[in-house]
Amino acid sequence: MAARATTAAASLLIARAAAAAGPAMRLRGGRSRGGARLVLACSASSSSSSPPGEGGGFSGRVGFLGLGIMGAPMASNLIKAGCDVTVWNRTKSKCDPLLTLGAKYESSPADVASACDVTFAMLADPESAVEVACGANGAAQGMAPGKGYVDVSTVDAATSKLIGKSITSTGASFLEAPVSGSKKPAEDGLLIFLTAGDESLYNRVALLLDVMGKSRFFLGDVGNGAAMKLVVNMVMGSMMVSFSEGLLLSEKVGLDPNTLVEVISQGAISAPMFSLKGPSMVKAAYPTAFPLKHQQKDLRLALALAESVSQSIPTVAAANELYKVAKSLGLADQDFSAVIEALKAKEQNE
Ligand code: NAP
Repeated sequence: MAARATTAAASLLIARAAAAAGPAMRLRGGRSRGGARLVLACSASSSSSSPPGEGGGFSGRVGFLGLGIMGAPMASNLIKAGCDVTVWNRTKSKCDPLLTLGAKYESSPADVASACDVTFAMLADPESAVEVACGANGAAQGMAPGKGYVDVSTVDAATSKLIGKSITSTGASFLEAPVSGSKKPAEDGLLIFLTAGDESLYNRVALLLDVMGKSRFFLGDVGNGAAMKLVVNMVMGSMMVSFSEGLLLSEKVGLDPNTLVEVISQGAISAPMFSLKGPSMVKAAYPTAFPLKHQQKDLRLALALAESVSQSIPTVAAANELYKVAKSLGLADQDFSAVIEALKAKEQNE
């Protein structure tokens, strides 16, 4: 598998060099990140002669479909960086904050794709990703040679290939680019893109990815990005269950779970996730950053991925059962850290 990682900082240097080279690179706009000025090439002109190489400028209109917890801040960052962005969301009212920032609106995914050079999609699950890309008035109907579709939703490889086939049958190009990172990294433009598919489209949208993220990996053929994302999230889902068990056990044996969070944060198993979510989990508060229903979806898809290669992942299978219990307790739209409530309920029933 060909894999290549590029950090936004590396691209930043290329963009700076391009800026120094003069207006031929069409660099304009910018935003600061950690004191450094990120120069972004975004222009409404679709008659682009943009250099296709990595870090080259992006010229053209950008579409964004799906403005949920992740899609809204990602689209917002593109607008703030000076891109000409057109949005659509099933629930139209979620477009309003983006329109206030300067986005345009089209009334269907097909119309967005038709109006834009590159269209991003951030949908809930495989079903919605397929519907928005391939359904009635789906993005594929607005696609044509020269256009690109970048699906950043978390789906399985088969779904991604299906969407890719539908898009490329129009002559357009396709890139899967699921993200690692949650609500706050999306707001801060610090996501990690796990891309695969059309490499020239990857290069064409590199600066757009760098506006929304801190690093990007190109992993080869369509399906590899989806698989990488599922492996990452299955590790995360199991970690959260293990952490929940630790919090409950520490409390039961008379320890302060807040102290456990502090101890973990100073050792080799420290993870930002534990420090971020631990204090509110102790208070039984689960403000949604990553909906529990999406974590359970990712475990379900990871189990199918493992099944496809006869790999045993018993810890993930056990974790998945707990997320299913949490969903049945009405916690689907809470943060995935609410899985601790499934453990509490289990204990009460025993
Ligand atoms: P979300 O807030 O639930 O947003 C889901 C989006 O999908 C909304 O725009 C929703 O539209 C749309 N949608 C759902 N069903 C649809 C359908 N049948 N037709 C058209 N649109 C539909 O979820 P999110 O947290 O932004 O996550 C989006 C994707 O990113 C998921 O695949 C998730 O696994 C992945 N992800 C999430 C995180 C995170 O921390 N939140 C991190 C990494 C990856 P409405 O507004 O109309 O409901």
